[in-house]
Amino acid sequence: MLEPVTKKFEDGSTLETFRFTFFCDICGKAVKEITYPYKPPFKAKFFISKSERRARELLWLHDHDSAYERANKEVLLQFNRCPACGKRVCEDCYHELEGLCRECSGKVRGEKDVG
Ligand SMILES: [Zn+2]
Ligand SMILES: [Zn+2]
Repeated sequence: MLEPVTKKFEDGSTLETFRFTFFCDICGKAVKEITYPYKPPFKAKFFISKSERRARELLWLHDHDSAYERANKEVLLQFNRCPACGKRVCEDCYHELEGLCRECSGKVRGEKDVG
């Protein structure tokens, strides 16, 4: 699986819903939660055999992986990417004018380097 867009990421997927939450790399605030309903391509049945259950699990996993990739693409637009450190940060942690995240912008503006 590909790396999540943000360092902190939560996967709260269930059998009914795929749910992915992405957090700001600096303040750790949840910036975006993406959910997709999972529609199983098979009918509900009272009895399912072991092998059928396994097949359903594999289908779910496969769809889960596609949902995960889709969520990562969608969430890219919700974050600002700092060109200096590569962190994905929320609006609060991004200086629009300087085009840098809070941490890097502080370093640039900070007092002269000591040593
Ligand atoms: Zn933030
Ligand atoms: Zn930065």
